[in-house]
Amino acid sequence: MGDIMRKFCEKCLKEVNCEYFEDNNEIVVNNKTIKYLEKYYICSECNNKFYDDLYDYNVSAVNNELRKLNNLVTIDEIKEIMKKYNIGKKPLSVVLGLGEVTITRYLEGRNPTKDNSDLLKCINTNPFLYEMFLIANKDKITNIAFKKSLGKTKQLELVKNKSKLYDTTLYIIKKIGEITPLALQKVLYFAQCFSNKFLNEYLFDDTAEAWVYGPVYKDIYDSLSYYKYELINYDELLKDYDFNLNKNEKDYLDYIIKYFGCYSACILREMSHLTNPWISAREGLGKEEYSSRTIELNSIDTYIKDICNKFKISNIEDINKYSERLFKEAQTMIEDLIYV
Ligand SMILES: [Zn+2]
Repeated sequence: MGDIMRKFCEKCLKEVNCEYFEDNNEIVVNNKTIKYLEKYYICSECNNKFYDDLYDYNVSAVNNELRKLNNLVTIDEIKEIMKKYNIGKKPLSVVLGLGEVTITRYLEGRNPTKDNSDLLKCINTNPFLYEMFLIANKDKITNIAFKKSLGKTKQLELVKNKSKLYDTTLYIIKKIGEITPLALQKVLYFAQCFSNKFLNEYLFDDTAEAWVYGPVYKDIYDSLSYYKYELINYDELLKDYDFNLNKNEKDYLDYIIKYFGCYSACILREMSHLTNPWISAREGLGKEEYSSRTIELNSIDTYIKDICNKFKISNIEDINKYSERLFKEAQTMIEDLIYV
């Protein structure tokens, strides 16, 4: 401020020495008073106040305040959306069905229409809505842009779904580091199986469905279907994540992860096929027959009581007697499959 520089004074109509200033300013637009930080020069020859290269800045400062007053989406909010969903300004425009340069213009300071502003505000708070647009218009953006944005959106959805099942899922992902959706489903299932015995209540109320490939928690399946057989890694997302799990629950899960999380997806699938709750839920169905039948909690209750008697499981550490036995049986099943 007060710096001397050479700029073009519109009154003198030439380049002059001038001083640079910043001041809080107010202007009235449509009967509304707008306060903003004004930047300007004072000509040393005629004392005129002028803007030269600061004109764009002042226009967008006023517009930004005007947007806030009218409850229109701000430039910062649009930038937040782009960062949050990992998408550039052009693909974002296209995904939302706007002209290719529409978002670029908003970022340059042009005011959005009320409809477009509402749309942007909605998707800023709702990853599910954004995902709908993204998938509907995926052919209009590059495959790389699509995958990058969808991956990020899926993570946000998972975190938004604050429930015991989701937090258990995220905890397992974090502790194992990298896991496929198939393996994750099986670890979740075993986590549910023993929770009533060692935590005195089930860790979550959701029930698994008895699919061909073993027990599956449908909500989690839907949330992670994007990954297919790829590894899920949420290290960055979960760095400071506040899990809705108490110490007992975390300690319990650490044992489940230790005894079940060490196996491959393929082995875990076979292990889950050896458990009665899954077998009895699929009674009468063919090996490859589709099913969405529920694995009832009382069926798990009965099974776990039997298992605990059979393997003399009274402490959580004893679970490994069961998991190792299951692993050995699953291994022979897989060998049988290979040699058939
Ligand atoms: Zn002048």
